[in-house]
Amino acid sequence: MVWNVELQFAALILVLIVVMVSFGQKRLNFAAERSFARLLIIILASIILDILTVFAIYYKAELGATATNFVCKAYLLSLTAIGCQASWFAVAEIRHSFRKFWVNITVAPVVVEIIFLSLRPVYYYKNNNSISIYGPCIYITYVLCLLYTVAILVMLFMLRNEISTKMRVTIAVSMFVILGASVIQFFLKDVFIMSFALALSCSYLFMKLENPEYHLDFATNVFNREGFKLIISENITFKEAKSLVVFRITDYSQINEIFGARAMEKLIIEIANYADELPGSTLFRIDDSMFVLSFDYKDNADSAVDKLLKRFRQPWKVGGVLIEINTSIAFIESTMAFNDYDSLEEAIYFFNKESVKLGPMKVFEVDENEIKKRQHNIEITRAIDWAFKNDTVEVYYQPIYDIKAGKFTVLEALVRIRDENGTLILPGDFIEFAEKNGMILRIGEIVFRKICEFVQRMHVQEYGIERIEVNLSVVQCIKEDVASVLKNIMGEYQVPGYLIDLEITESSASHTERVLLNTMKELKDYGCNFVLDDYGSGYSNLTNIIKLPVDVVKIDRSFVRAFFENKKVRIAAEGTIEVIHELGLKVVVEGVETEEEYLMFKNFGVEYIQGYYFSRPLPKDKVLNFIQEWM
Ligand code: C2E
Ligand code: CA
Ligand code: CA
Repeated sequence: MVWNVELQFAALILVLIVVMVSFGQKRLNFAAERSFARLLIIILASIILDILTVFAIYYKAELGATATNFVCKAYLLSLTAIGCQASWFAVAEIRHSFRKFWVNITVAPVVVEIIFLSLRPVYYYKNNNSISIYGPCIYITYVLCLLYTVAILVMLFMLRNEISTKMRVTIAVSMFVILGASVIQFFLKDVFIMSFALALSCSYLFMKLENPEYHLDFATNVFNREGFKLIISENITFKEAKSLVVFRITDYSQINEIFGARAMEKLIIEIANYADELPGSTLFRIDDSMFVLSFDYKDNADSAVDKLLKRFRQPWKVGGVLIEINTSIAFIESTMAFNDYDSLEEAIYFFNKESVKLGPMKVFEVDENEIKKRQHNIEITRAIDWAFKNDTVEVYYQPIYDIKAGKFTVLEALVRIRDENGTLILPGDFIEFAEKNGMILRIGEIVFRKICEFVQRMHVQEYGIERIEVNLSVVQCIKEDVASVLKNIMGEYQVPGYLIDLEITESSASHTERVLLNTMKELKDYGCNFVLDDYGSGYSNLTNIIKLPVDVVKIDRSFVRAFFENKKVRIAAEGTIEVIHELGLKVVVEGVETEEEYLMFKNFGVEYIQGYYFSRPLPKDKVLNFIQEWM
């Protein structure tokens, strides 16, 4: 007697190995992993049923026809079930995006199979060499499985932009292996190759895609960045909120240098072991020196932060040496504010940097507000970048009234940017941010170029304009070469220095006085004047007026407001204006909105008035018309 069952046993061993390796490891249990686990179980069941079928047919006399039939049909049904589960697995990554209808329809062939199997018999024969089953039940199973195979291949092709290439290729290869086996099986009825082909395919899928080890960090055996990405992407898609605690060893490379890579690895393992034990957490190592703890409950995260802080204050014992480390901790209250993984990952790195700025052993708490602030910053960066590329940095000009001359003789240049939708963004929304990331330097240059072009092209002097005031950011003031940059641009447009007033603020003076004084000297030699802007906001200091070679002082609008509300402020302001005058400087009052305010400052003898009372800042093609109407 020869039983044709060797291949099935080989298949069984192969699948059992895959099952053991797969379930013997730490798992994250995301959708594709769960789907593969189900596929594996069904394939295992199918192989066992395949073997049982051979035995059942062989021992048909002892078992009886009903039991034998049942085993054969169960085996056939398991094949269709594999097709069904395989189709779900193929799109597990993106299954949430399907409508219920499509999910339901994948079950239809299984239902058809059940109906068919319950209505029709299976036939089988046994001879000396082999055992085989045949008849319409076999054919319908073939047809339905073929249908699944073709459907999966078509789906992989149609969804090629949504399913990762690796996933598509691997699944397609497995499908062709099974397809090939079915053809052989169809013609050689007594070679039971199907189970072996299934076992091969699922081992291949396991090796290429589904080994949980791919999501584990080699050194620490905690989950790695790939695992983090998979599970967090899924959490975001299904709106499952997580609290994240991000911590990084900030002196990672120094420790590495001093103690060596082996000690570093041991240290990392110690830290990972400690953090992995924190209640309610899943630990990920997403970078050499960076870990993320993910929590379902914020309370667990809160107490984990306390524990980590406490532990990080203590040294770590590694190979008999005590190593002290510096760590930065950022606490992201909820992942709900993020629409996709990439923006979350960017935010993790960003907030980690912010926490480093706080210094060691401090926690940077990231609440909704912080996230909104950062998202706003990203939008602003994009808008500025767009404005650079599309030349939509615009300069508006606010006329400044010269009381003695009875007309407008000065304009203050004020920058705006227009975003993609044509909306104007005011400097209050982007200057501070652009100063932080350095974009202000380029903005400053573009603005200055546009001003010079405007002065040269429009012959502003013919409108009685004597000077244009240009705001200089602190960041520009601390650049050594700002004077030569500005002089070059003026030279290019043949704009004489006396047409340009540069506005600086007291904060520039407090930063780098030496550079500022050099810059001022160089530009004053070129003919430019200097204005001390925003005087009276914050902690103004008369010594700044004395030590900086400014020609004009601009009184801030907050002072104007306080002036009317508080008699002491009025007395102080009157005194200040007097002192400024005695020092030989002129005074601009800005933010004047009413006639009452205007008349008050006129009586004080200030030289210039700037404010909505006369005009708002106007675009370059309107401002000269406005001036002309006044002439
Ligand atoms: P700033 O230099 O104090 O400019 C005056 C601001 O007050 C302008 O706001 C102006 O529109 C506004 N303003 C003028 N008159 C009135 C008034 O009567 N009432 C009120 N409530 N506001 C008035 P803007 O254009 O939004 O500029 C805000 C700030 O942005 C400026 O304050 C300046 O610090 C900065 N900025 C503007 N343009 C530039 C630039 O080209 N470079 C740099 N570095 N900073 C700039
Ligand atoms: Ca100004
Ligand atoms: Ca000002």
